[in-house]
Amino acid sequence: MPMTPSIDVAVVGAGFSGAVVAERLADHGLQVLVLDRRPHIGGNAHDRPDAHGVLIHPYGPHIFHTNSTRIVDYLSRFTRWRPYEHRVLASLGGQLVPIPINIDTVNAVYGLSLDETTIEAYYASVREPRDRIETSEDVVVSQVGRDLYEKFFRGYTRKQWGLDPSQLAASVAARIPVRTDRDARYFTDTFQQMPADGYTRMFERMLDHPNIRVETGVDWFAARSRIRPRHTVFSGPIDAWFDFRHGRLPYRSLRFEHEHLPDTPRVQAVGTVNFPNDHDFTRITEFKHLTGQTHAGTSIVREYPQAEGDPYYPVPRPENEALFKRYAAMAEAETDTTFVGRLAQYRYYNMDQCVGAALTASTRILERMGVTA
Ligand code: FAD
Ligand code: UDP
Repeated sequence: MPMTPSIDVAVVGAGFSGAVVAERLADHGLQVLVLDRRPHIGGNAHDRPDAHGVLIHPYGPHIFHTNSTRIVDYLSRFTRWRPYEHRVLASLGGQLVPIPINIDTVNAVYGLSLDETTIEAYYASVREPRDRIETSEDVVVSQVGRDLYEKFFRGYTRKQWGLDPSQLAASVAARIPVRTDRDARYFTDTFQQMPADGYTRMFERMLDHPNIRVETGVDWFAARSRIRPRHTVFSGPIDAWFDFRHGRLPYRSLRFEHEHLPDTPRVQAVGTVNFPNDHDFTRITEFKHLTGQTHAGTSIVREYPQAEGDPYYPVPRPENEALFKRYAAMAEAETDTTFVGRLAQYRYYNMDQCVGAALTASTRILERMGVTA
């Protein structure tokens, strides 16, 4: 195979992490080659119209939210935004109630009429105080007690992770707050908005730079012998880079079941309905809520968690963190490679956190390569 013309940096992965680093380095004059083994850019945030013309997220629903003005300002160079506040209902045997748990959730589940002045006392009466909050079970039970935990968290978590909440780090369930008001939004971040023309269009603009070349459908491990970069940025699974030397890091996967419903303007009241205890899937998302698209039909996705398949989630628990640390120590020793992103840093990052980590990594790479930032 012919050698690839000289480049400064190879970026493996065209998701948020890879695309941001590529754009930053290219903008500082470096020649960048971006490779992705998938046939498209955008990583898991990739979106595209389905066969019926409805804009969908093939790898599951992606809702942008952040508190960081710096990250919004950076991304705003490549997209306009559409305001969108995500709402989720949990289906408890058919009864639809707000999640995160708020006053209306508790009232609906137990037939109560609590308000802002009485909800705290209610939680206090059911919570099971714990001396140490170590697991996801501790987080929930110590806030809302065992019954709400079992209704909303235990089944969902076992389905999603194949583990009991008592086997998962506190940080997983701590993503979902418990509310003492009636706020039914899933997120409360300052910025809640979707790229107006979709994620893929935003990535196209990010990577549309004279110093960037993109090759999709190319696996780094198959292509690396023809590429001689001065520096490599890897945003794939860190254990794969090191040939699984210390054993496999668990990554949770999903199977996505997409469906189009013709002549159906709306199928559910909110963007996502969670099914904590029924079905093998965790949730159903209807994309038109997220995108604001007008269409005579609608498209939905069901998410079925599974162990095998593309890596989507790091699995936060102490033994995995210990194994990751062994790989991270090897990564530290590699001066001509930078590891960035949800898979390479083994962090349960949201998109904005990937952008933040990639901006930080870019500054470090520029310093290392002697380029003035
Ligand atoms: P990825 O997007 O995984 O990109 C890594 C890329 O590297 C992939 O495209 C892969 O093909 C490529 N790659 C790996 N190995 C190789 C190789 N050997 N050769 C070539 N290419 C390779 N975040 C939010 O903020 N809001 C949400 O609502 C949200 N919803 C989510 C829903 C689901 C179902 C999932 C799975 C994630 C969700 N996220 C959400 C998280 C979000 O997807 C990630 O934070 C972000 O997309 C990760 O970007 P990344 O570039 O680090 O990784
Ligand atoms: N979770 C739950 N019930 C819910 C929603 C979330 O038990 O109705 C738990 C579950 O363990 C899940 C975690 O909280 O994996 C984080 O939820 P989030 O919606 O942030 O998951 P993601 O969108 O990242 O898949």
